[in-house]
Amino acid sequence: MSRTLITSIATAALAVALNGPANSQAARPQIETKKVDGTENVYIFRNGNHQAMFIVTPAGVIATDPVAYGRPTGGQQYIDEIKKVTDKPIKYLIYSHHHFDHIAGGKAFKDAGARIVAHKNATARLKALNDPHTPLPDESTGNKKVISLGGTSLELLYLGANHSDSTLVMRLPKEKIIFVVDTIPVGTFPGRGMIDFYPLETEAFMKKVIDLDWERLIPGHPGAPNGRLGTKDDAKAALAIYQDASAEMKKLGQAGKCWDEAEKEFKLEKYATLPGYANGLPFVARRYCGLWGRGT
Ligand SMILES: [Zn+2]
Repeated sequence: MSRTLITSIATAALAVALNGPANSQAARPQIETKKVDGTENVYIFRNGNHQAMFIVTPAGVIATDPVAYGRPTGGQQYIDEIKKVTDKPIKYLIYSHHHFDHIAGGKAFKDAGARIVAHKNATARLKALNDPHTPLPDESTGNKKVISLGGTSLELLYLGANHSDSTLVMRLPKEKIIFVVDTIPVGTFPGRGMIDFYPLETEAFMKKVIDLDWERLIPGHPGAPNGRLGTKDDAKAALAIYQDASAEMKKLGQAGKCWDEAEKEFKLEKYATLPGYANGLPFVARRYCGLWGRGT
């Protein structure tokens, strides 16, 4: 073998070792845990395109949303990730709302001794459905509960119906961070979550969230681009999307065009470059057709 050939094989091998195969460079791991910049104890656990917040205190861990729908080992994998950063017990598991894609998988937490907390509307629905992968809450909250553990306060606020009728806004007053799932997409267009969305109530809800004291928003799906956190400007932008969608469909609905004709005509061109626009538009159209064409 010539010296040149050996050198070029070695160079190619080195390139693969450093960079991996060319087509995997953009891939991210299925599971990832990151500490939130500027905090001492707030973490984001991500499994695929779902994510949850957890807080580590000297007296134990407050976890949220197992995010393990269709992932039989997801709850335990989440616990394993928590164990990598602390040996403190997991004291609480808070459900953000009743949707299984966020809260299935809690058994491992329950087995580990965590107390499961959810809004009372979530509990009522979960009792009716009795999903085998979603343990019932041990405690149901109303409009406000504050969990205090090891020097950390976490507020659980119910501010009315929005993306669901069971969403808790979780606020860390000291860190000025909120965790809100699904209602406020960060840099992306709304989609499937519109299926049981409350259009009128959501606008009131969003204004209440914007009026709270916070600086950063952890969304239940990674923000775009690069999994970023949201700001109040993102919340205002999301509210504007809902308001624009409503105004656009109002014209079509009141002209008697819902469902088929209106859903075909409905466009929101100014948002066409947002990730998720093409897939999400039919869901947004249908929900607002329900409002303006039917009164629902
Ligand atoms: Zn949801």
